[in-house]
This record gives sequence, structure tokens and C-alpha cells, in this order.
Amino acid sequence: MFFDVTIIGAGVVGLSIAKFCSEQGYSVVVLEQKSRAGEGISSRNSGVIHAGIYYPENSFKTKFCVSGNELLYEYADHKRINYKRIGKYIIASNKNDIEKLHKIYRQGIKNLVEVNLLSHRKMKEIYPELNIEEAIFSPNTGIIDVPELVSALEGDIQHNGGLISFNTTFISAEKIEQGFRISCDDGTSYKIDSHYLINASGLYSDVISKKIDALNDKDFSLIKYAKGHYFKYNGNHPFTTLVYPLANEFSSGLHVGFDLSGQIRFGPDITWVDEIDFSFDENLKDKFIKSIKEYWPQLDSSKLHPDYVGIRPKLQNFNETMKDFSIKDFNDHGVDGLINIQGVESPGVTSCLSIGKYVLNLIKS
Ligand SMILES: Cc1cc2nc3c(=O)[nH]c(=O)nc-3n(C[C@H](O)[C@H](O)[C@H](O)COP(=O)(O)OP(=O)(O)OC[C@H]3O[C@@H](n4cnc5c(N)ncnc54)[C@H](O)[C@@H]3O)c2cc1C
Repeated sequence: MFFDVTIIGAGVVGLSIAKFCSEQGYSVVVLEQKSRAGEGISSRNSGVIHAGIYYPENSFKTKFCVSGNELLYEYADHKRINYKRIGKYIIASNKNDIEKLHKIYRQGIKNLVEVNLLSHRKMKEIYPELNIEEAIFSPNTGIIDVPELVSALEGDIQHNGGLISFNTTFISAEKIEQGFRISCDDGTSYKIDSHYLINASGLYSDVISKKIDALNDKDFSLIKYAKGHYFKYNGNHPFTTLVYPLANEFSSGLHVGFDLSGQIRFGPDITWVDEIDFSFDENLKDKFIKSIKEYWPQLDSSKLHPDYVGIRPKLQNFNETMKDFSIKDFNDHGVDGLINIQGVESPGVTSCLSIGKYVLNLIKS
């Protein structure tokens, strides 16, 4: 069997790449070890369509998030995917945080994102129950039903004649003249040949990289895992938008998030772990309560319950600063036909369609 493009991983990133490549008439197969698509990081996140405020203006994170935001709203309209453009307040809860908030505001302006700075007085009218010194409002932040997004992408790939091969584990790839000879296992071992090989395996991108014989160890990163816990809240609350406090040492800000049914939850925190393990540490509840009460003193802690965890595939260690998404091709690692994607943490859902288009262009160039 020969394919133009083989993609490892049917998360939102691999599926988006497959959608754009199959649309252009390339023969495409997506190898997915699980029995369904979108069961990896893509099923354990906040489901937020970010606007692209926080990251440096020339980073992939900003470029893909800003363009991906627009593409995703358009795609959601076109495919009737459930979403809400509910907006988000980034809040400073005490005077010491105001300088940090202004820095984020200036970054948002540099990134050409619509952001509005709101005073303490204005915020008292909007959210009288919350401690807010100043806030940034982002009207283009929203929430999306990620499982519906995954299904829409799958539908497009199938419509274009692409193949998603479930219960199929990528084992290894050997460089051959026309591209790659790829060993797979779906209960039986077999090989396929492919001109392009794309590693979109999320948390496993380093494990997969090691199994591509032509790729040197120095040309990929080991993934570090940062777990994020979510607690759901089953009581009355004042929230009608997303609310993001500023980051502290415990979290990147324990956000108030919603799902499309209106259920609210708080999180994620950041807990660095050594392995991929989705167990929930209920002992974190006290830290959550303390953090949330800084901006919402009336929280009824008896209504806060464990929900789920997600794990971020980090390129940096806990003591290092932000690293960008990594998308490496021949020019970076010298392996013709290989596109190796690593570190697609948040805002990866928002960015997925832009990443898909970008990778298609790498293939076409
Ligand atoms: C806590 C948390 C909150 C987040 N919140 C947001 C948010 O609000 N908004 C946003 O934009 N982004 C958010 N993100 C980021 C977003 O969820 C990810 O960037 C995105 O889902 C990554 O998708 P992916 O396709 O790269 O990875 P995945 O969804 O993990 O897909 C990779 C796939 O590869 C498969 N695979 C692995 N190894 C093999 C193998 N050997 N053979 C075959 N298949 C294999 C896996 O089974 C998996 O299905 C969040 C992430 C986390 C962790």
C-alpha cells in the first residue's frame, strides 16, 4: 500500500492536517491507536476558542491562534458545530497584579487582537460579587464542542476519500528512497509506504520520534507532562462569561470555564508529573478554594467536586519559560518528507485548522 501522506494521531491536529491534505487530492491515511478519534489531549481540555492575547507576536502560538480563531468560528458555522462566542475577562484581583495585566493588554494589542481595558468601577457594575481591580475584555474568546469538531473533521476526511485507521499503532518508520516504510500493528503487523510522514501524536511525540530511524536524537525534544485538574461547581454562581485570573505559582490562573450545557468548572492547575497518568488528586481542593476565593469570596466549597484532568505536552521544564509549538521539516532536521510536530499544548484546539493549512503548505512547497 502506498500513500502520499501518513499522519500519526487522530487528535484535532492530525485530523486537521488530514482534512486539508485530502482536500487537495493527496491520498491520506491517519493511524490512530485508539478505537475513536479525539481521545487523547483533544478530549481533555477547556474547549476554549482563544483569541491569541498572551504569547509573543511572532510565535507560532500567536499566529496560529489568531488566524485559527477566525477559521474555527467560520468552520463551526459551516458545519453547525455547537459554539458560543461568550467572551472572556482577564482579571487582576489585587493592585499588585495591575502591571502584569497591562503587560498582557499591550501584548494583545501587538498581536492585533481586540482587547478592551476596563476599570474597577466598570467591573463592579458587571461582576459586583467579584474582587476585580481592573480587567481586560476579549469579545472573541468563546467555547466550542470539541467532540463535534472532531466528528466534523472526520466527516470531511472521509468525504475527501481519506482513511482513518483506528486501533492501529504506529510501530516504526524506516527511510526509503520514495519516502518511508512504516510498520503498523492493528492486531496483525503490516507495512505501508508513504511519501510524507507526519508525527501528530501529542503526548507521545517523543516516543514516536525515537522510532523514526532517520531522525537524530538532537532533532526532537523529550516531552514533559504538566497535569491540569478541573473541579466542577454545582451551585448558583454569577458567571456569564469566561473569567481568567492571572497566573500564580499554582496555576496559569484557575479559570472559570463552561461547557456548552452551561456547567461551570474551575481549572486547570499545573501539577508536573513524570508519567501519563489521568488519576485525580482530590487533595488539591483546598488550594483551589483558596485560589478561587481570591476573586470570588462567596464560593460555596461544598459545591465544588472533582471533574477531570488533562495533560499538557510541554517542551519546557517547570522552571523554564514558555516554549513555542514545534513544527519541524527537512530544513530543521534534514529528513526529507518528515514533519515532526511537538509541544502543541493550549491553544492547540483553537490553532488546529491553521496548523493544518500550514502543514499542507510545507508539503506543497
Ligand atoms: C488541560 C488542557 C487544557 C487545554 N485547553 C485548551 C483550550 O481551552 N483551548 C485550546 O485551544 N487548546 C487547549 N488545550 C490544548 C489542546 O487540547 C491540544 O493542543 C490539542 O488537543 C492537541 O491535539 P493533538 O492532535 O496534537 O493531540 P491528541 O489529541 O493527543 O492526539 C494525538 C493522537 O495520537 C495518538 N497516538 C499516540 N501514539 C500513537 C501511536 N503509536 N500510534 C497511533 N496513534 C498514536 C493518540 O492516541 C491521540 O489520539 C488544552 C490542553 C490541556 C492539556
